[in-house]
Formats: sequence, structure tokens, C-alpha cells
Amino acid sequence: MSAFPGLLQHLDRLVSIPSVSSANPALDTSNAEVIDYLARCYEDLGFSCEIVESAPTAPATAGNRKLNLIATRGSGPGGLVLAGHTDTVPLNEELWSVNPFRLTEQDGRLYGLGSTDMKGFFPIIMEALQVFADTSFRQPLIVLATADEETSMQGARTLAELGRPRARCAVIGEPTGMRPIHAHKGVMMESIDLLGQSGHSSDPDLGRNALDAMHSVIGELMSFREELRQRYHSPIFTIPRPTLNLGCIHGGDNPNRICGDCHLEFDIRLLPGMEINQMREEIRQRVLPIAERLQVQATIKPLFPGLPAFYTAPDTELVRVAERLTGHSAASVAFGTEGPLLQQLGMDTIILGPGDIDQAHQPDEFLPLDRIPPCIEVLRDLIRYYCL
Ligand SMILES: [Zn+2]
Repeated sequence: MSAFPGLLQHLDRLVSIPSVSSANPALDTSNAEVIDYLARCYEDLGFSCEIVESAPTAPATAGNRKLNLIATRGSGPGGLVLAGHTDTVPLNEELWSVNPFRLTEQDGRLYGLGSTDMKGFFPIIMEALQVFADTSFRQPLIVLATADEETSMQGARTLAELGRPRARCAVIGEPTGMRPIHAHKGVMMESIDLLGQSGHSSDPDLGRNALDAMHSVIGELMSFREELRQRYHSPIFTIPRPTLNLGCIHGGDNPNRICGDCHLEFDIRLLPGMEINQMREEIRQRVLPIAERLQVQATIKPLFPGLPAFYTAPDTELVRVAERLTGHSAASVAFGTEGPLLQQLGMDTIILGPGDIDQAHQPDEFLPLDRIPPCIEVLRDLIRYYCL
């Protein structure tokens, strides 16, 4: 589509700079070059750009620099944040039929790693800004570009702790097919380690069996799951109840040894109203008495800080405005976003972007070209509504 030569050039450049985030240090890369490029682009568009380094994660990534960009044009107490992440997931290059690190235009699609999820959002904002070249904003427009959304969300977490940025509302351009998204579930992933005492299997009294104890713990978690299902319900989600999935278990080594230790990992998908810390406390109160009774040592740990559920009320002005501009009624999605972290900053937040989640995290990821003009129009209308 020759209508947007600048946009395609920027997107080609962004796609060509690898910015994979992965919990595997061998795959993880820095996103510094993407942030530097975006900062230069937005400075050229009259934004003042500030780069904020992410706080270190535990466990540390490969030592790669992880940066976040806050690009601001205009000032005032209101305004609009347009947000996105600069990282991509790792890829299976051999499964791609085009070069993942170049933008390939073919059959009305723009192929490239991150084209849809979600490097494409930033050049689309640049394109939308063309009509405002000589306009001064009465309220700020802030473009936020974060690091490590695909893994720890450490970029957005760092900014949430710093209390930045602040505006009246925020739109995250994750792939939603231009349907406004006002809710998604939260997620927590936890591990339980039980340490008993191994011994000869011929005499159970010689040890304390961690696998036996884990059996009781799992039984308790399953009744906790049932209780959560009774306690929480939200019809806005396809799966309207909270879920608790027992994901993996390791323990012991041999049939004729008393199992000395056992490790369990599980996740919980939270509905709005379920607090991560309260869930953790309830799990402790259920598991610790079992460990004490069976004389094993229990260690309960989060595998990552957890992501709260995301919910913006359907009658919020931003939701209504986005519904009117897009012609779609607001809905929920099954994937997690930085939405709840931006919400913590006091901003009304929705997820709304041009790509499709079906194309994300896939070989031959693409952004359909015909999604670009409507997205540009909606962004222009949002900027007019919140910044002029
Ligand atoms: Zn994404």
C-alpha cells in the first residue's frame, strides 16, 4: 500500500531490530535499539522523550538493557496515553516462509516478527499524527513504549512503581481486531515445595513421605478450586469462573525409597475482584496445617509477581467513546496485558489495536493492510477527543 510509505519504512526498521524477550537468557535480547529508534522518530514529531530503564528482575535476565520510552507532546492534567510493548516473543525461524526480520508486503498483508504484536502500533501512531503537525495539544498525548511485556512485564511494573506516566486514560494497541477490550482475567503462578525425609520403603516410619503429603495438598487445592468456583462468577468471560490448573509435579526418584521431596506448580486465572495477595494468604492457610500434621516442611513461592485481573467498567467514558468510534461493543479477551498496571496509575484503560491475536506468537505473523486506515482514523479521533 503505497499510501503509507513512511509507515512501512518505520515498521520495516522496527521489525529488523531484534527485541526478543525470554525467560531463557540464551534467547533474550535488549530492546535498547528499538527504544532509541522510536525516541528519534517521536522527537522528530515534536515529542519530548524520556527513557526509563527497567528495574532489575529477579531472577535477573541475561544482563540485557531493558528500556522504556515516555514520549510526551503537550501538557496538562488530562490527556491520552497510547501504549505498546517493544519486545516480541522468540521465534522458530525455520518455520517462517519470509524473513521474520524484514517487513514483507504480500497479498495485502505485512509480514514480520512483531508486525501485529505489536511493533506495528508505533508507526501507525506516527501516521495518525501527520494531521496534527501544526496543532498544539491542550492536553498531553503520551506515547508509551515498554520492555519485557511478553515475559515479566517488568517495564510496565517499573513505570507503575514510579507512578508514571499519568493521563486521563490509556489505550494499549495490542491486537484486538479494533474491538475495544475492557476486561481480561489475571494470572498467578505459584510453586509448593514439600521437604520430608527419605528412607527405605520397607518401613514407612523410617521417613516422612513428601509425595504422600503432596497428595493431601493437591486434595486441598482441588477443594479450594471448587470453593473459588462457587465464590466468583463473571458472565463477561468465555470461561466465567476462576480456574486453578495443576501444571507440573516432580518428586522422589525410586519406587523403593520414601519420597523425600516433592515440587508442584500451578496457576490460577483470577476474575476481577480476586486479589493476588489474598489468594496467596488463603493458600498458605490451607497448605501449612497439612505440612505440619504430616511433618514435612512446606515452601510456597510465587513463580512471578502475578498479574491482576483487568476490568474497566463498560459505562466508563473511554469505553463508550471507543465503542462509538470503532462500531464494536466492548468485550473481554483471554490473554493478559499491561492494562492492570496502567490502571494502577489511575488511568481509565482499554485495549484496542489493529492486529489479530490469532496471528500473534506465530510463524509468518502478519498485520492485514486494510486494518491500518481504520486504526489511523480511530487514533486521530481519540487524539481530537482527549488532547485538543
Ligand atoms: Zn502483545
